[in-house]
Amino acid sequence: MNEFIKFSNLSKIYRKGSQETIALDNLNFTIAPQSFTVITGRSGSGKTTLLNTIGGLEAPTLGEITVNGQNPYRLDDRRQAEFRRQHIGHIFQFFNLLPELTAYENICVPSYLSRRSLDNAFLNQITEQLGLETILEKYPAELSGGQQQLVAAARALSTSPGIILADEPTGNLDKRSGEQLLDLLCFSCRLFGQTLILATHDLEIARLADRILTLGDGRILSDISGGSYDIP
Ligand code: ADP
Ligand code: MG
Repeated sequence: MNEFIKFSNLSKIYRKGSQETIALDNLNFTIAPQSFTVITGRSGSGKTTLLNTIGGLEAPTLGEITVNGQNPYRLDDRRQAEFRRQHIGHIFQFFNLLPELTAYENICVPSYLSRRSLDNAFLNQITEQLGLETILEKYPAELSGGQQQLVAAARALSTSPGIILADEPTGNLDKRSGEQLLDLLCFSCRLFGQTLILATHDLEIARLADRILTLGDGRILSDISGGSYDIP
Protein backbone atom coordinates (compact mmCIF):
# COMPACT_ATOMS: atom_id res chain seq x y z
CA MET A 1 0.00 0.00 0.00
CA ASN A 2 1.56 3.28 -1.11
CA GLU A 3 0.82 6.02 1.40
CA PHE A 4 2.30 9.39 0.76
CA ILE A 5 1.87 12.28 3.16
CA LYS A 6 2.16 15.91 2.18
CA PHE A 7 2.00 19.00 4.40
CA SER A 8 1.38 22.26 2.50
CA ASN A 9 1.67 25.57 4.39
CA LEU A 10 0.06 23.82 7.31
CA SER A 11 -0.46 25.61 10.60
CA LYS A 12 -2.35 24.60 13.70
CA ILE A 13 -3.23 27.40 16.07
CA TYR A 14 -5.00 26.88 19.38
CA ARG A 15 -6.95 29.90 20.60
CA LYS A 16 -8.28 30.33 24.07
CA GLY A 17 -9.65 33.81 24.79
CA SER A 18 -6.91 36.17 23.75
CA GLN A 19 -4.22 33.53 24.11
CA GLU A 20 -2.85 31.94 20.97
CA THR A 21 -0.58 28.92 20.73
CA ILE A 22 0.98 28.12 17.39
CA ALA A 23 1.39 24.36 17.72
CA LEU A 24 2.40 23.83 14.07
CA ASP A 25 3.87 26.75 12.18
CA ASN A 26 3.59 26.77 8.38
CA LEU A 27 4.92 23.29 7.72
CA ASN A 28 5.89 22.16 4.23
CA PHE A 29 7.25 18.67 3.82
CA THR A 30 6.43 15.24 2.51
CA ILE A 31 6.86 11.76 3.94
CA ALA A 32 7.76 8.96 1.55
CA PRO A 33 5.76 5.75 1.48
CA GLN A 34 7.15 2.81 3.43
CA SER A 35 9.62 5.00 5.30
CA PHE A 36 10.35 5.25 9.02
CA THR A 37 10.36 8.85 10.26
CA VAL A 38 11.19 9.82 13.83
CA ILE A 39 9.75 13.09 15.13
CA THR A 40 11.73 14.47 17.99
CA GLY A 41 11.83 17.77 19.87
CA ARG A 42 11.18 19.13 23.33
CA SER A 43 7.87 18.77 25.13
CA GLY A 44 5.41 21.21 23.64
CA SER A 45 7.23 21.37 20.29
CA GLY A 46 4.22 20.01 18.37
CA LYS A 47 4.92 16.26 18.00
CA THR A 48 1.51 15.04 19.17
CA THR A 49 -0.31 17.72 17.17
CA LEU A 50 1.61 16.69 14.06
CA LEU A 51 0.71 13.01 14.48
CA ASN A 52 -2.93 13.84 15.23
CA THR A 53 -3.06 15.99 12.09
CA ILE A 54 -1.85 13.08 9.97
CA GLY A 55 -4.30 10.78 11.74
CA GLY A 56 -7.32 12.87 10.79
CA LEU A 57 -7.99 13.95 14.37
CA GLU A 58 -6.82 17.56 14.32
CA ALA A 59 -7.98 19.77 11.48
CA PRO A 60 -5.35 22.31 10.42
CA THR A 61 -6.13 25.98 11.02
CA LEU A 62 -4.37 26.98 7.79
CA GLY A 63 -2.99 25.06 4.83
CA GLU A 64 -3.64 21.43 4.14
CA ILE A 65 -2.48 17.89 4.45
CA THR A 66 -3.00 15.11 1.94
CA VAL A 67 -2.60 11.43 2.60
CA ASN A 68 -2.22 9.42 -0.55
CA GLY A 69 -3.54 12.42 -2.49
CA GLN A 70 -6.62 12.74 -0.30
CA ASN A 71 -7.36 15.51 2.19
CA PRO A 72 -9.10 13.71 5.06
CA TYR A 73 -10.56 16.97 6.39
CA ARG A 74 -12.55 17.47 3.18
CA LEU A 75 -14.49 14.28 3.84
CA ASP A 76 -17.77 14.18 5.73
CA ASP A 77 -17.65 12.75 9.26
CA ARG A 78 -18.55 9.23 8.28
CA ARG A 79 -15.94 9.02 5.52
CA GLN A 80 -13.35 10.69 7.74
CA ALA A 81 -13.86 7.95 10.31
CA GLU A 82 -13.62 5.40 7.54
CA PHE A 83 -10.39 6.98 6.35
CA ARG A 84 -8.93 6.54 9.84
CA ARG A 85 -10.03 2.95 10.10
CA GLN A 86 -8.68 2.11 6.68
CA HIS A 87 -5.32 3.82 6.70
CA ILE A 88 -4.24 4.68 10.24
CA GLY A 89 -2.95 2.69 13.19
CA HIS A 90 -2.51 5.13 16.07
CA ILE A 91 -0.58 4.39 19.24
CA PHE A 92 -1.53 7.27 21.52
CA GLN A 93 0.75 8.81 24.10
CA PHE A 94 -1.89 8.06 26.74
CA PHE A 95 -3.14 4.70 25.34
CA ASN A 96 -6.88 5.54 25.07
CA LEU A 97 -7.99 1.96 25.80
CA LEU A 98 -11.69 1.36 26.34
CA PRO A 99 -12.03 0.63 30.08
CA GLU A 100 -15.04 -1.65 29.84
CA LEU A 101 -13.34 -4.00 27.37
CA THR A 102 -10.64 -6.57 28.11
CA ALA A 103 -7.16 -6.25 26.60
CA TYR A 104 -8.07 -8.79 23.93
CA GLU A 105 -11.33 -7.05 23.11
CA ASN A 106 -9.51 -3.72 22.89
CA ILE A 107 -7.07 -5.22 20.41
CA CYS A 108 -9.99 -6.48 18.29
CA VAL A 109 -11.83 -3.15 18.14
CA PRO A 110 -10.33 -1.90 14.83
CA SER A 111 -11.13 -5.18 13.04
CA TYR A 112 -14.63 -5.14 14.46
CA LEU A 113 -15.23 -1.53 13.42
CA SER A 114 -13.93 -2.08 9.91
CA ARG A 115 -15.90 -5.35 9.67
CA ARG A 116 -12.77 -7.20 8.74
CA SER A 117 -12.12 -10.72 9.85
CA LEU A 118 -9.33 -11.03 12.35
CA ASP A 119 -6.00 -12.32 11.14
CA ASN A 120 -5.62 -14.68 14.07
CA ALA A 121 -2.17 -15.91 13.14
CA PHE A 122 -0.83 -12.36 12.96
CA LEU A 123 -2.65 -11.40 16.15
CA ASN A 124 -1.09 -14.33 17.98
CA GLN A 125 2.30 -13.32 16.67
CA ILE A 126 1.82 -9.76 17.93
CA THR A 127 0.61 -10.75 21.39
CA GLU A 128 3.37 -13.32 21.75
CA GLN A 129 6.10 -10.92 20.66
CA LEU A 130 4.83 -8.35 23.16
CA GLY A 131 4.43 -10.93 25.93
CA LEU A 132 0.71 -10.20 26.30
CA GLU A 133 -0.61 -13.78 26.32
CA THR A 134 -1.30 -13.89 30.05
CA ILE A 135 -3.06 -10.55 30.34
CA LEU A 136 -5.48 -10.71 27.42
CA GLU A 137 -8.52 -11.30 29.63
CA LYS A 138 -7.70 -8.43 31.99
CA TYR A 139 -9.26 -4.98 31.91
CA PRO A 140 -7.15 -1.83 31.41
CA ALA A 141 -7.55 -0.82 35.07
CA GLU A 142 -5.89 -4.13 36.04
CA LEU A 143 -2.84 -3.45 33.86
CA SER A 144 0.32 -1.45 34.44
CA GLY A 145 0.96 1.63 32.31
CA GLY A 146 3.52 -0.32 30.29
CA GLN A 147 1.13 -3.21 29.69
CA GLN A 148 -1.58 -0.77 28.57
CA GLN A 149 0.90 0.77 26.17
CA LEU A 150 1.69 -2.63 24.67
CA VAL A 151 -2.02 -3.44 24.30
CA ALA A 152 -2.52 -0.08 22.57
CA ALA A 153 0.33 -0.94 20.21
CA ALA A 154 -1.14 -4.37 19.45
CA ARG A 155 -4.47 -2.69 18.72
CA ALA A 156 -2.85 -0.22 16.30
CA LEU A 157 -1.04 -3.00 14.43
CA SER A 158 -3.92 -5.49 14.40
CA THR A 159 -5.37 -4.55 11.01
CA SER A 160 -1.97 -3.81 9.40
CA PRO A 161 -2.94 -0.30 8.21
CA GLY A 162 -0.77 1.61 5.74
CA ILE A 163 0.32 4.25 8.24
CA ILE A 164 1.39 3.68 11.84
CA LEU A 165 1.46 6.75 14.07
CA ALA A 166 3.28 6.07 17.33
CA ASP A 167 3.29 8.82 19.96
CA GLU A 168 6.14 8.16 22.40
CA PRO A 169 5.23 4.46 22.31
CA THR A 170 8.10 3.41 24.57
CA GLY A 171 7.62 6.23 27.08
CA ASN A 172 6.17 3.92 29.75
CA LEU A 173 8.16 0.78 28.98
CA ASP A 174 11.26 -0.79 30.48
CA LYS A 175 14.19 -1.18 28.12
CA ARG A 176 13.44 -4.77 27.11
CA SER A 177 9.73 -4.20 26.46
CA GLY A 178 10.62 -1.06 24.51
CA GLU A 179 13.00 -3.03 22.33
CA GLN A 180 10.41 -5.77 21.78
CA LEU A 181 7.84 -3.20 20.71
CA LEU A 182 10.26 -1.50 18.38
CA ASP A 183 11.28 -4.81 16.82
CA LEU A 184 7.62 -5.58 16.25
CA LEU A 185 6.93 -2.17 14.71
CA CYS A 186 9.87 -2.54 12.34
CA PHE A 187 8.92 -6.14 11.52
CA SER A 188 5.32 -5.19 10.78
CA CYS A 189 6.36 -2.21 8.66
CA ARG A 190 8.70 -4.33 6.59
CA LEU A 191 6.17 -7.14 6.21
CA PHE A 192 3.26 -4.94 5.15
CA GLY A 193 5.18 -2.03 3.58
CA GLN A 194 3.80 0.38 6.19
CA THR A 195 4.84 3.97 6.75
CA LEU A 196 5.91 4.51 10.34
CA ILE A 197 5.94 7.94 12.01
CA LEU A 198 7.09 7.82 15.59
CA ALA A 199 7.52 10.60 18.15
CA THR A 200 10.22 9.99 20.72
CA HIS A 201 12.94 11.49 22.86
CA ASP A 202 14.93 8.28 22.63
CA LEU A 203 17.98 8.77 20.43
CA GLU A 204 18.53 5.00 20.28
CA ILE A 205 15.25 4.74 18.37
CA ALA A 206 16.12 7.71 16.21
CA ARG A 207 19.20 5.82 15.03
CA LEU A 208 16.95 3.18 13.47
CA ALA A 209 14.90 5.64 11.43
CA ASP A 210 15.26 6.57 7.78
CA ARG A 211 14.74 10.18 8.69
CA ILE A 212 14.74 12.32 11.81
CA LEU A 213 12.66 15.49 11.95
CA THR A 214 13.34 17.73 14.92
CA LEU A 215 10.56 20.15 15.87
CA GLY A 216 10.84 23.35 17.89
CA ASP A 217 7.88 25.63 18.48
CA GLY A 218 5.96 23.91 15.70
CA ARG A 219 8.70 24.37 13.11
CA ILE A 220 11.18 21.94 11.62
CA LEU A 221 14.54 22.72 13.19
CA SER A 222 16.37 19.94 11.37
CA ASP A 223 15.59 17.23 8.86
CA ILE A 224 18.29 14.58 8.55
CA SER A 225 18.41 11.09 7.14
CA GLY A 226 19.06 8.28 9.56
CA GLY A 227 20.15 4.69 9.08
CA SER A 228 17.79 1.87 8.17
CA TYR A 229 15.44 -0.54 9.85
CA ASP A 230 18.29 -2.94 10.45
CA ILE A 231 19.48 -2.92 14.01
CA PRO A 232 23.21 -2.31 13.86
P1 ADP B 1 4.49 17.69 22.15
O1 ADP B 1 3.73 16.45 21.78
O2 ADP B 1 5.72 17.90 21.33
O3 ADP B 1 4.79 17.73 23.61
P2 ADP B 1 1.98 19.07 21.56
O4 ADP B 1 1.72 18.84 20.12
O5 ADP B 1 1.23 18.26 22.54
O6 ADP B 1 3.57 18.96 21.83
O7 ADP B 1 1.70 20.58 21.88
C1 ADP B 1 2.21 21.66 21.09
C2 ADP B 1 1.75 22.98 21.67
O8 ADP B 1 0.34 23.09 21.50
C3 ADP B 1 1.99 23.13 23.18
O9 ADP B 1 2.33 24.46 23.43
C4 ADP B 1 0.66 22.78 23.79
O10 ADP B 1 0.50 23.42 25.01
C5 ADP B 1 -0.31 23.27 22.75
N1 ADP B 1 -1.55 22.46 22.72
C6 ADP B 1 -1.65 21.15 22.39
N2 ADP B 1 -2.94 20.74 22.43
C7 ADP B 1 -3.67 21.82 22.80
C8 ADP B 1 -5.08 22.05 23.01
N3 ADP B 1 -5.97 21.08 22.84
N4 ADP B 1 -5.45 23.28 23.39
C9 ADP B 1 -4.56 24.29 23.53
N5 ADP B 1 -3.23 24.15 23.34
C10 ADP B 1 -2.79 22.93 22.98
MG1 MG C 1 3.20 14.75 22.91
